Amino acid sequence: MAKIFCIANQKGGVGKTTTAVNLAAGLANLKQRVLLIDLDPQGNATMGAGINKAELDSSIYQVLLGMGDIAAALQTSESGHFDVLPANRDLAGAEVEMVELDQREMRLKQALAAVAGDYDFVLIDCPPALSMLTLNGLCAAHGVIIPMQCEYYALEGLSDLVNTIKIVHGKMNPDLKVIGLLRVMFDPRMMLSQQVSSQLEKHFGDKVFKTIIPRNVRLAEAPSYGIPGVIFDPSSKGAQAYIAFGKELVERIAAL
Ligand code: ATP
Ligand code: MG
Repeated sequence: MAKIFCIANQKGGVGKTTTAVNLAAGLANLKQRVLLIDLDPQGNATMGAGINKAELDSSIYQVLLGMGDIAAALQTSESGHFDVLPANRDLAGAEVEMVELDQREMRLKQALAAVAGDYDFVLIDCPPALSMLTLNGLCAAHGVIIPMQCEYYALEGLSDLVNTIKIVHGKMNPDLKVIGLLRVMFDPRMMLSQQVSSQLEKHFGDKVFKTIIPRNVRLAEAPSYGIPGVIFDPSSKGAQAYIAFGKELVERIAAL
């Protein structure tokens, strides 16, 4: 059965999508069967995987609202060798439209049951909000991977996210746990990065992944080609770090 992980942080622009797309490609490279779910109306994970969000016949929007079958909405990232449940701006309407539905926080979990058996990993790229969409991700998942930048304000938002995860764990999804915190866009020359990084290790112990993702321009360039960074320039420092992270995650899961 697939391990289902949310990549979540309610702060915007912290590297969620870059992590989701590159981890998907990194795990596929390790011969894992991977489904990447784009749960963000921005559709960045969809585009980053090389799928045109403007030309979708069916997407996660139809799936969440019960207007389409999940299998019919799936596509394949040719460059990344993983499957994608794509999203585009249609999804922005889903929050409001779902208000009428029963068990609206369980829509993704219910839809996923039909295909989860076909994969080793399902990765869910969450939007930058603790919204009904993110709640659907958290209710469907076994764990959360939290990418964060090592800067002062990063720690502030973290407690809100950790509290939300605790509430979901207690009331809606007893399987849910924090798998780990991933330090991203790391700049070792900055004193503050070093300080926040060691604070994180002190407070969260082994919940902090050992792999650190450096700031690397190749990771930022790759999405404009619709190719995951780990495929676009495998020898770059950023790609190497995401490949190492994929391995660390597989080992961590095996040890759980
Ligand atoms: P949002 O909250 O809007 O969904 P996000 O958390 O998904 O954003 P990304 O889109 O992954 O964040 O990253 C934000 C920006 O930073 C993008 O332009 C991305 O290319 C760039 N970026 C992400 N990680 C790195 C990195 N390690 N090195 C350099 N640039 C990066
Ligand atoms: Mg994103």
